[in-house]
Amino acid sequence: MPDQWIYLNGEFVTKENAKISVYDHGFLYGDGVFEGIRVYGGNIFRMQEHMDRLYRSGKSIMLQIPHSQEDLTNLIAETVKRNQLEDAYIRLVVSRGTGDLGLDPNNCKAPNVVIIVEPLSIFPKELYETGLEIVTVPTRRNRPDVLSPKVKSLNYLNNILVKIEARLANVNEALMLNDQGYVAEGSADNVFILKGNTFYTPPGYIGALEGITRNAVMEIARDLGYEMKEEPFTRHDVYTADEVFLTGTAAEVIAVVKVDGRVVGDGAPGYHTKQVLKEFRKRVLLEGVKVYSRSETNAS
Ligand code: PMP
Repeated sequence: MPDQWIYLNGEFVTKENAKISVYDHGFLYGDGVFEGIRVYGGNIFRMQEHMDRLYRSGKSIMLQIPHSQEDLTNLIAETVKRNQLEDAYIRLVVSRGTGDLGLDPNNCKAPNVVIIVEPLSIFPKELYETGLEIVTVPTRRNRPDVLSPKVKSLNYLNNILVKIEARLANVNEALMLNDQGYVAEGSADNVFILKGNTFYTPPGYIGALEGITRNAVMEIARDLGYEMKEEPFTRHDVYTADEVFLTGTAAEVIAVVKVDGRVVGDGAPGYHTKQVLKEFRKRVLLEGVKVYSRSETNAS
């Protein structure tokens, strides 16, 4: 196995050497922001949207990203190249930095910036063919006026509790509701349902992260001739939907075939979900910024 190279504050280090202080405020308090990005066939998918969201998250929590968007984009591209991976997940983390035990972020000298690139499939591969069973869990989505779900911060305890509750129910993923009981999203993915010829996904104000895969899938649904609506819905709507699927950079597009014991459709990934998935797989290879090609490495 060749070394895995990780970008850490201005240098590339091996996984074993990628270490930061226990006084890092990301570690102590979840004080920081991050992005999950994917490279498909050497093309980074929707890099600009990820950059925009990262900088918006940073602005919201008053964390100045210590690079221009262009420099950070180049660093991501360089990390992908170093690892010689055409298909991988990229984790970009910017924490408040190393400080002291106090909360005051002014005591953190400079943000810690980390870029990790590795192959990732968060669900077992076969579930992309057979579909996922999910449940809804007691943990509610953070209220937007408390900790905005639009900030992709390092504070993921809410989402981790959802994952714990999913595992307790012996399933791989779960839906969380918002404080009013509307369906918000999965632990790290957005949810879509289909009724007739219309796809629905919860709007951002319900408490869903405005996912970049979600954006891409909304475009695909419209381009394929479906109606696409951002509207609040309840568990009842999920139980009675013709098809259900989840989207996310890590999750990609994955069908849901059972929710809280109710079988969705005929219990297999639905026709329309498969159409969307097929188009998604096509577009991720065509779209995006080329950063690496294995053939270049072989030639040199
Ligand atoms: N919701 C949450 C809470 C997430 O963490 C993610 C993953 N970033 C998503 C939705 C999906 O967003 P995206 O498609 O941008 O990865």
